[in-house]
Amino acid sequence: MDDPRPVAEDHRRAVLDRYRAERDKRIRADGIDQYLELTGRFAAMAEDPHVERVEREPLRREVTALFVGAGFAGLTTGARLVEAGIDVLLVEKGGGVGGTWYWNRYPGAQCDTHSFVYLPLLEETGHVPTEKYAHGPEILEHCERIAEHYGLAERSLFHTVVTDIVWDGDARRYLVRTDRGDELAARHVILGTGPLHKPKLPGIPGIETFAGHAFHTSRWDWGHTGGDRFGAPMTGLADQRVAVIGTGATAVQCVPHLARDAAALCVFQRTPSSIDVRANEPTDLDWFEREVQAPGWQERWLTNFTLVQTGGWAEEDLVHDGWTDIARRIRDKVVERAAAGEAVDADLLARAFGDSDFEKMEEIRARVDQVVTDPDTAEALKAWYPQLCKRPCFHDEYLEAFNRPTVRLVDTGGRGVERITERGVVANGEEFEVDCIVFASGFEVGTDHARRAGFDVTGPEGRRLSEAWDEGMVSLHGMHVHGFPNLYVVGAAQAANLISNYPHNLAEAAKTVAAILAHAEAEGIVEVEATAEAQDAWMDLVLQRQGLIGGGAADCTPGYYNNEGHDAGLRGRRGAASYPDGPVAFFRYIAEWRTDGRFDGLDLRR
Ligand code: NDP
Repeated sequence: MDDPRPVAEDHRRAVLDRYRAERDKRIRADGIDQYLELTGRFAAMAEDPHVERVEREPLRREVTALFVGAGFAGLTTGARLVEAGIDVLLVEKGGGVGGTWYWNRYPGAQCDTHSFVYLPLLEETGHVPTEKYAHGPEILEHCERIAEHYGLAERSLFHTVVTDIVWDGDARRYLVRTDRGDELAARHVILGTGPLHKPKLPGIPGIETFAGHAFHTSRWDWGHTGGDRFGAPMTGLADQRVAVIGTGATAVQCVPHLARDAAALCVFQRTPSSIDVRANEPTDLDWFEREVQAPGWQERWLTNFTLVQTGGWAEEDLVHDGWTDIARRIRDKVVERAAAGEAVDADLLARAFGDSDFEKMEEIRARVDQVVTDPDTAEALKAWYPQLCKRPCFHDEYLEAFNRPTVRLVDTGGRGVERITERGVVANGEEFEVDCIVFASGFEVGTDHARRAGFDVTGPEGRRLSEAWDEGMVSLHGMHVHGFPNLYVVGAAQAANLISNYPHNLAEAAKTVAAILAHAEAEGIVEVEATAEAQDAWMDLVLQRQGLIGGGAADCTPGYYNNEGHDAGLRGRRGAASYPDGPVAFFRYIAEWRTDGRFDGLDLRR
């Protein structure tokens, strides 16, 4: 009798060979340059469709802290600064608070990480999310709730774009200029512009010739589609043939809604996303009150999720979802093999990761066959790469949408859309006539900070941040940059770099900024700057570990996680640099650092 093992191993080898082949055919020489900015002839597509811009007089104001952005970063930091009694002003390009959730109002928008850990300041504001994965309107409403609770809306300038930030050496503060002609003098400037805020278009030949209607998902045109973000049918599409270009996390969420409402829908796919189970459910308030609500509950959930998701040991997995599933599988395999006598080393960890990932992706591919009735469509919807090569997706209606007679998947075999014409979209040599194109083509990642932010920062002696970062970001704690006093970056890079729950990075950074500014105010400290030695030592430390974004494996299918499959050299490594002992250890380290009163690594000048 044949031993069944070799068959399984042959299968696995064949699958891994396919991963490589699928990747190779997607690598393009132009890498991140294949995309277009929404400027020039596409500038109108970047405009705000949600809130009308109202003219106002330029302002001259002095503030202690100016925060660029009023998304989760600005709101959480703003909240902590208000708690610390610090005068703060938020400057935001959108017409209201919310950042990502202000712009992304496409149908079906929803968080992918459990609401209890994704939504900031739940305990402080007393909000209990209504669902395990809250939808966009509830998240935007929560942003407005935070703004209301901390009085941040009246401390914000909306529809205002920062154009310039220049250090004024005499006054020892920054002068911030905006597109409204404002001149804002700020002792401290904090940048929280987010990693994914600048929409991009695919550089498809002929894209400018399309005569129908077109928009990017982050500027959803409800005037054209009809319906609303709360789920009302998009009656404007009832007689329209619609194309969606892109099948990333955004498309996965809006396709089921377009499938329901459009007369005909073509989904143009270059690379399928992996679609794991969503299993959303309403929050049971009795359970919440009984089991969850207790002082410090959100902190407990945050710590538990981050611990379990990054492979740490916890008594219980509170969230228990797709994010924690893979980590639990890896951990269980390590425990099992260690119990069988294997040494716990890098090799065992790599094998446990490889085995768990393979198992998971086989399940995800099998799920496509279970759900999608047409075998060719099902085959084309299968993802052939390790799960963390691209943003994992979770949905219970996306695959189902392809069973509708009005929906067609146009798989381009990794080549992408060939051309756009006046009438429609050309792929695989065939022209598909459509009335409307929805670009679900994502956001710029990996381009220069100044290009994405839309402004540069000029420090003492005219030194520009773009020069300091010409070979990629350098920092202490991902927050302070030597040569730029009183400048703070609120993000994830060169710190915890926790991608599965980005807001956790922001929650910690907010507390750190507030602690430093409160200390400076109390002690009469006028300048706060990272020393060169502390920054160099920090960079040496964090370059030891590469995070997911920018550090995505070179042998992964191309995407923004791995700079479209091209080695970005030192720039890329710096962009992906992360605290070597992982997010939980970083959060512990930074909490101690900000509370011990020493602020090691900072030069504090009176
Ligand atoms: P992505 O960058 O993930 O997806 C862009 C899509 O456009 C990809 O499928 C890409 O294909 C495709 N594409 C690009 N060029 C072409 C072309 N020439 N022809 C055909 N297709 C093309 O953007 P998203 O907006 O979907 O997501 C961005 C990120 O935002 C996510 O990764 C996630 O981090 C976040 N997000 C989070 C959500 C949540 O938490 N709920 C929801 C939505 C987004 P290819 O893959 O081959 O490059």
